[in-house]
Amino acid sequence: MIIAIDGPSGAGKSTVAKAVAKKLGFSCLDTGAMYRAIAYKALSRGVALDDQEALGSLARESVISFGHAAGDPVPREVYIDGVEVTDKIRTAEIDKAVSPVSATPAVREALLDQQRRIGLSGNYVVEGRDIGTVVFPQAELKIFLTASAEERAHRRVRQNVDRGIGSIDYAEVLADIERRDEVDSNRSTAPLRPAEDALLLDSTGHYIEDIIETICSYARERMDQ
Ligand code: C5P
Repeated sequence: MIIAIDGPSGAGKSTVAKAVAKKLGFSCLDTGAMYRAIAYKALSRGVALDDQEALGSLARESVISFGHAAGDPVPREVYIDGVEVTDKIRTAEIDKAVSPVSATPAVREALLDQQRRIGLSGNYVVEGRDIGTVVFPQAELKIFLTASAEERAHRRVRQNVDRGIGSIDYAEVLADIERRDEVDSNRSTAPLRPAEDALLLDSTGHYIEDIIETICSYARERMDQ
C-alpha cells in the first residue's frame, strides 16, 4: 500500500509521514531529500543551476539511498553516491538552490524512476509535492497537507533551532517559504497541487497528533477494504 502525502514546505509532512509510518509499520520515503541531495551535489560540483542538461546528467548518474537504524523502517540518514549528506542538505543555501533543480524536467524524470522503484518495494508513506498526481497516481490513500504560510514559517524556525541548522530568522524563513510555494506551484512540470482524489487536511491551529491519527484511521479503513 502507498500513502501519498503532498503539500507545501513546512506543512508538517515529514513529521506526519514518519509518525504515520511508525504507527502502521510502513517504510517512509522523503522525496524532497532526494531533490535536496541533487542540489547539494550540483553546488559542490559547481554546476550552474540554470544548466538543465548538466543537472539532468548529474541526476541520472547519481544514486540516492537512505540509512536506517536497526529495526527502524523510518530512515535516519541520506546518502548520495555513498556519501552521507543528512545535515548538509538542510541549509538555507540548499533551500534556495533546490527550487531551480526540482523545476528541471530531466532531474524530475531521473528521480521519478528511483522513487517508483523504492516505493513499490513494500508498504510506503511517500511525501513530496507530486506523489499523488505524478509519482504514484494509483496510491491507495492521498493526503494534501497544508497550513498557513505564517504557521509553517514558525514551525520551520522552531525545527531549525532544535536541529541547530538552517535560518532561525522568522522573516527570512517566511520569505523563503512564500518564494518556494510560488515556484513549486507555478512550474510547468509536476506543479504542487492536490490530486483530485486527495483528502485535504489543513493543520493550521490543529495538533499534529490529531492529523497523524486522522491519516492512520483513513489508512486502516482502506487496508480493511
Ligand atoms: O519537502 P522539502 O521542502 O524538503 O523539498 C525540497 C524541495 O524539493 C521543494 O521546495 C520542492 O521544490 C522540491 N520537491 C519537489 N517534488 C517533490 C518533493 C520536493 O519538487 N516530490
